[in-house]
Amino acid sequence: MILHIQKKANIASLQDFYKAYSIEEKDHYVLITPSAVKEVDESHKSDVIASFPMDSDIQLASSKYITTTREIRFSDDLIIGGNSNNTLMITGPCSVESEEQIDAVAQFCVSQGIKILRAGCYKPRTSPYTFQGLGHKGLILLAKIRDKYGLKIITEVKDATHVDDVIEFADIIQIGAKAMYDHGILTACSKIQKPIVLKRGFGSTLQEFVQSAEFILSGGNNNVALCERGIRTFETKTRFTLDLCGVAYLKEHTNLPVILDPSHAMGYAYGVPDLTRACVAMGIDGLLIETHPTPKLAKSDASQQLNFEEFTALKKSLDKVASSVGRKMI
Ligand code: PEP
Ligand code: MN
Repeated sequence: MILHIQKKANIASLQDFYKAYSIEEKDHYVLITPSAVKEVDESHKSDVIASFPMDSDIQLASSKYITTTREIRFSDDLIIGGNSNNTLMITGPCSVESEEQIDAVAQFCVSQGIKILRAGCYKPRTSPYTFQGLGHKGLILLAKIRDKYGLKIITEVKDATHVDDVIEFADIIQIGAKAMYDHGILTACSKIQKPIVLKRGFGSTLQEFVQSAEFILSGGNNNVALCERGIRTFETKTRFTLDLCGVAYLKEHTNLPVILDPSHAMGYAYGVPDLTRACVAMGIDGLLIETHPTPKLAKSDASQQLNFEEFTALKKSLDKVASSVGRKMI
């Protein structure tokens, strides 16, 4: 249950009584008890301004608590959720590979009117014998590119050893699919106010996915977007299966913006444009699309990245799809 508690209440004793989390807001406390608690104890009723009983531990993220999509403000003119109806395009390579490569992508982004560049530095690879990313050196390159082109940077964190490094350099922190359960990362991301894009683990249920977001929200960071990037099914012809039913669930039952990553779900560039249009038609808050100057030569995820020509054609096709569902591509 979520309780809004008067400022004059003894929040520490309430927290102790209900074994609850509390967040301090400007004019009240938000107390989050385990969802099994359905009633406020008689002795505390005078402290409670509002109560929201919940049927599971999807609580702060639930549309039963906040009925509209939470707003994330990347800058004053770059907003998703809230009343915005925006669908934000984020693009860039899977990995930062070199200054020349990331500079070429950044120039391309500017030419396309893209405001947020994605690129990984700490790559969560499946094999230890493949390119693992440039790590801290990659972050320095990204910071240089941000200053040169005025782009915002989203980059991923794969484990808690470098979470502070990523938090320091990135404008937006991407929590990789394999890191969705890493409590060191979730806790660190809950203590800051930078936007977080939390990817769904490919073997995780929607309940587990949103509960991971609850760890960030309950620590006091409201700026969380959920990213569906494909789940593992019996199908092997595509890399993963993009769970659009899950997206419908998240839109209906949660208050968090939803970003889709068709690149990792499909695994092959040929399918990404159609899949992206399908995502936009669902009225989503954003997209992560991998692009690379020369996809065939990419050091990670070579098969799924779009080249500049393919991305240009895709982007051109999205405005109509977005407007048909009352959305605007930004
Ligand atoms: C990525 O965005 O490049 C990536 C590795 O994604 P995921 O964590 O979804 O596999
Ligand atoms: Mn990738």
